[in-house]
Amino acid sequence: LTTAKSIIYSTHGEPKDVIKVHTYTIKEPEDNEIVLKTLAFPINPSDINQLEGVYPSKPEKTLQYNTTEPSAIAGNEGLFEVFKTGPGVSSKFQIGDRVVPIFANTGTWTSHNIIKEDQLIKLPKDLSIVKGATIGVNPATAYQLVNNYGLIKGDWLIQNAGTSAVSQMVSQIAKTKGINVISVIRDRDDFDAVAERLTSQGATKVISESQNGDRDVGKELAKLTGGNIKLALNSVGGKSSASIARKLAPGSKIITYGGMSKQPVTFPTSLFIFKNIQALGYWVTENTKADPAGKVKDTEEIVKLYQSGQLKELEVVESVWKLDEFSDEQVRDLIVKGLENSSKGKQLIKI
Ligand code: NDP
Repeated sequence: LTTAKSIIYSTHGEPKDVIKVHTYTIKEPEDNEIVLKTLAFPINPSDINQLEGVYPSKPEKTLQYNTTEPSAIAGNEGLFEVFKTGPGVSSKFQIGDRVVPIFANTGTWTSHNIIKEDQLIKLPKDLSIVKGATIGVNPATAYQLVNNYGLIKGDWLIQNAGTSAVSQMVSQIAKTKGINVISVIRDRDDFDAVAERLTSQGATKVISESQNGDRDVGKELAKLTGGNIKLALNSVGGKSSASIARKLAPGSKIITYGGMSKQPVTFPTSLFIFKNIQALGYWVTENTKADPAGKVKDTEEIVKLYQSGQLKELEVVESVWKLDEFSDEQVRDLIVKGLENSSKGKQLIKI
């Protein structure tokens, strides 16, 4: 039997107040079940929103972890090693292989877990721990945003929050397909240095939010792009979304996948009427549920981009959970620190 230690919750609220460290025994794997040992997991904004109870997708709370109240394990992505296999598991999965879950809500903030083989994607062993542990959310989102909306070589896309992890991956993936990218970033003192870094990654042009709202800059961009901006990717909302939508060619789409400014998405009525712009949403969780095979295929393509050096791994801040040494209190402190620092860079917990 395997002893597991997991970060669980039975109610929602301030994350640090609702998480508990819980130790329990995982049964022997039956049929096509696999016991996994965790290598690393990130703390993503959606994990925090899930603990707060404000995220529409959440795992079912159960008694299977031997808790007194129905509970769920926190976390939605992570990298695992195959630790024990059930008798019906295919030869594709061998002890020591590295895997990630296909679906959200798997419960990844844990030392071990048990899961059916058809819910796992096998990754090459030489893919770095950071790349593996963070492959399911940000790179997958970027990959699908670039690939799912009919863009072809020579097209342009415009995106706000150009400095975000997703946007940086969008630029790199777009570059591999010959798609041009305009990244809008917030005004800042070190604009030139940041713009240079983003263009070296693949953004064709970087502009500030104040330039985004400027009509003359809009005219210059229309000239530069030949009026061929076919997609706007919005993760900010407010005025920023209106300004990127205004630059679209008639009949194009604006996709909203985040709301960093916490402002509603606004844009002029005339864009609907005279330019027939479509405003749509994107959610990787729902896309994965609707098309799990597509998620597996996209993950394999992302692995290839990593292996060919066309995609850089996410920048993370690493902490180590020393499984054999840490008391429950120390584990809790580690996670609480990760939660507190999550606005200062992507936190990754290695075990
Ligand atoms: P990061 O933490 O890497 O980046 C955050 C970005 O938001 C930075 O570009 C930052 O800009 C910008 N930002 C922060 N606060 C504000 C603000 N008040 N107004 C405008 N911009 C702001 O984020 P991720 O790449 O991990 O995620 C980006 C977004 O995508 C999030 O909203 C996330 O929830 C969403 N997302 C959605 C998915 C989906 O399926 N729909 C999947 C994955 C992510 P600056 O550099 O100026 O600080």
